[in-house]
Amino acid sequence: MDKVVSLSKRRGFIFPGSEIYSGLGGIYDLGPLGVELANNIKKAWWKNIVRERDNVVGLDSAILMNRQVWHTSGHVESFADPLVECKNCHTRFRDDTLPKSKNCPICGKKDWTAPRQFNLMFKTHIGPLEEEGTETFLRPETAQGIFVNFGNVIDTMRVKLPFGIAQIGKGFRNEITTGNFLFRVREFEMMELEYFTFPETAEKDFEYWQKERMDWHLSLGLKKESLRFREHEDNERAHYATRSVDIEYNWPFMGWGELEGIANRTDYDLKQHAKMSGKDLSYFDEETKKKIVPYVIEPSIGVGRMMLALIIDAYTEEKAPTAEKGEAETRTVLKLNPTLSPIKVAILPLVKDVKLTKIAREIHKDLRENWETIYDEVGTIGRRYRRQDEIGTPYCVTVDFDSLNDDAVTVRDRDSMKQERIKVDEINNWVMKKLSRP
Ligand code: ATP
Repeated sequence: MDKVVSLSKRRGFIFPGSEIYSGLGGIYDLGPLGVELANNIKKAWWKNIVRERDNVVGLDSAILMNRQVWHTSGHVESFADPLVECKNCHTRFRDDTLPKSKNCPICGKKDWTAPRQFNLMFKTHIGPLEEEGTETFLRPETAQGIFVNFGNVIDTMRVKLPFGIAQIGKGFRNEITTGNFLFRVREFEMMELEYFTFPETAEKDFEYWQKERMDWHLSLGLKKESLRFREHEDNERAHYATRSVDIEYNWPFMGWGELEGIANRTDYDLKQHAKMSGKDLSYFDEETKKKIVPYVIEPSIGVGRMMLALIIDAYTEEKAPTAEKGEAETRTVLKLNPTLSPIKVAILPLVKDVKLTKIAREIHKDLRENWETIYDEVGTIGRRYRRQDEIGTPYCVTVDFDSLNDDAVTVRDRDSMKQERIKVDEINNWVMKKLSRP
């Protein structure tokens, strides 16, 4: 895990938030490569959930919402974790995450305050007055933006049940204890689908989405043995859910833990909002000529948590011959699915020779029209390959002195390290064939 954290910082994936001011608990920034990886994860999710389906549409609702939303949804009342404080060292913990022995992880004592419910929502104020009436919250989930727009989507999109509304956006939770790098933070992006369906088929749809979501993780290359389903116990479920199943990942720092949650939220949210807003949030079924309030199945996953699982799963150290000497050395490779790799192609002149760099720059100009690329002429070719391996670049294009005669370049594959000679004017098509766009 330390190696993953170090690589993430060193190679510009993830930086601690506000680092020059000693950071801020549970807040991280995405570096130049991190933002590319996150964008690719989001694009892959959107493609799978929205673009490739007839019955799912997208939405981007505001982070700030009328505070009544959070009263109606039950979050003001119930979105809380049990907080306990060690009476000896005064460190605070989430009660349900303490070890079974209940000894303080900091000082080892066993003297706790009684648990009290701590609400995880961040408060803020709208407008210039800081009084109770202007108070609202930063959203802890994007789902409520979907529920309050349910009527707008039905009126404008001619959707037919069952249908989904998908959204990607920031969520904020004032977690009692953060940690394990991106696993538990206080500000994070979420990818959420609310799949509205008939109450009678909700259970079947729940099963369907479990499989769909697991297949997606596998399609992106997460290892089968690193993933499993776990059904929630009765006392674990959120206040709105009748059934919850997590897709868990086997994290190196804690073992099995939630990667994605799938919940059956029933008609709870729509009914609550209809009741409190006085607006009709039902769906008119043309076939039965009846109004119904749909049930909703919700798969929900954090972009950062997904990114962490992908980096951990892809991180590989292996023996490999160096380009220069042919002797074995350890190389670090991020074997990311190429669709997700921040950089798709690196263009490298063998040495800094005017003729070679000219060709390399032309190839770079051509390829960057379609792909995230990088041009690098600094250091030995072996070093430059290693640098690309570490950030997961699937292909390196090298321009050498033979290129001056045969109008061809060498393309090196990240995983096999095999090299192929390709004509310069065929590279674009070659890359196109190799890589699918998210
Ligand atoms: P927990 O019980 O571990 O606090 P939760 O069950 O409340 O989590 P959900 O409400 O199901 O979490 O959140 C949906 C998804 O959002 C999670 O599967 C996870 O990927 C992500 N997520 C939730 N909380 C955090 C967090 N604090 N930091 C990073 N990602 C998070």
